Amino acid sequence: MRLSRAFLPTLKETPAEAQIASHRLMLRAGMVRQTSAGIYAWLPLGWRVLQKVEQIVREEQDAAGAQEILMPTIQTADLWRASGRYDAYGPEMLRLKDRHDREMLFGPTNEEMVTDIFRTYAKSYRDLPRNLYHIQWKFRDEVRPRFGVMRGREFLMKDAYSFDLDYAGAQKSYRQMFVAYLRTFALMGLKAIPMQADTGPIGGNLSHEFLILAETGESQVYLHKDLLDFDVLSKPVDYEGDLSATVDFWTSRYAATDEKHDAAAWAQVPVGSQVSARGIEIGHIFYFGTKYSATMGLSVSGPDGKPVVPEMGSYGIGVSRLVGAIIEANHDEAGIKWPDSIAPFKVAVLNLKPGDAAADALSERVYAAFDPDAVYDDRPDRAGAKFADADLLGYPWQAIIGPRGAANGMVELKRRATGERVELSAEDAIARIK
Ligand code: ATP
Ligand code: MG
Ligand code: MG
Ligand code: MG
Repeated sequence: MRLSRAFLPTLKETPAEAQIASHRLMLRAGMVRQTSAGIYAWLPLGWRVLQKVEQIVREEQDAAGAQEILMPTIQTADLWRASGRYDAYGPEMLRLKDRHDREMLFGPTNEEMVTDIFRTYAKSYRDLPRNLYHIQWKFRDEVRPRFGVMRGREFLMKDAYSFDLDYAGAQKSYRQMFVAYLRTFALMGLKAIPMQADTGPIGGNLSHEFLILAETGESQVYLHKDLLDFDVLSKPVDYEGDLSATVDFWTSRYAATDEKHDAAAWAQVPVGSQVSARGIEIGHIFYFGTKYSATMGLSVSGPDGKPVVPEMGSYGIGVSRLVGAIIEANHDEAGIKWPDSIAPFKVAVLNLKPGDAAADALSERVYAAFDPDAVYDDRPDRAGAKFADADLLGYPWQAIIGPRGAANGMVELKRRATGERVELSAEDAIARIK
């Protein structure tokens, strides 16, 4: 993308309403525009990042055996009456009426709808296990939308729903999602820690929130410091194999949010290993048994011909919240430092003197090597302004091309994450970026 033609509206001033770094930077970098409280339009840069996050989530869900569908945002109140949640959900639910006065709502989550869809088709135990997910906008009328996309009212969530024949099957599905979450967040360069979370009336220990540590996090968390160094990606995973060892390993150290914090168990953690910090909830997995299948009449015939009510779980990832969370974990004074896997563009080619024949030719050459995964700053602006913009927008690489270097075919390559700079021939610079 040529910046002379691009819609990448950056702001010089720090927006007064933004209290945390990721919110400030997303506004300054022109990633999103708030259209009303907690509701955002995604501009080209933000939209590209959101799609990258979404794609990493999707690929790991697919690898783990879940299948993608797309359910609507608008649901009927009747579905929620069937499960008993219509009245229980409270003012966080945005309720609507259509022209026939039928009660509708903008979905805050989809347990009812997916159970309704699944019960239409699932007839026998051979239709189990299944895991269905979608990546769809949700609406929750949060009392205090804040921190930009981190706590929006409209937000993008990946939500998966598993259906199993029995508890052992449900545990297997749960472990598949547990491991998929570890990998998904690691692939984004995040250190997400699974922590025991409240299971509500169901009980048991099958609910985990995944959090990253950040000073601006809304949750208070307590964990054993070993968890911060556990490796995730070095071994391949066999999702159909037995994943208990991985889950047991991760749950072998203390980690809990405020609500589940247990002072007695905490006291067993050596003081030198205790980490008490703030965290951001980026995912949540949950086993809830037959709560929806039983109330909504989902039943299949078992191997012996007798009816069985499937066991279910649901698994959420805050896709749009992740964009903010990744920035919280990767920024400095000057701006964003995108991890390679999430970056909106891999490289920015900064032509310091558009109109200079050598600089133009060399810039075009490096740009062409990476287009469409590159931006080309061909604007007639000062060098300083180009550096500041590229640092703010956080492209992992900057290829800086001035008239003097260009005359000798040289490019200055800057790595945004470390600030490292090297002077290389165009050929070597291109090879280094790839
Ligand atoms: P929170 O405790 O932050 O309110 P939650 O526990 O209500 O989140 P879940 O119902 O577990 O959220 O939804 C799954 C995921 O959706 C969360 O882990 C979070 O990443 C994301 N999410 C929830 N609410 C919001 C929101 N208002 N804005 C952006 N993302 C959200
Ligand atoms: Mg909430
Ligand atoms: Mg929560
Ligand atoms: Mg939650």
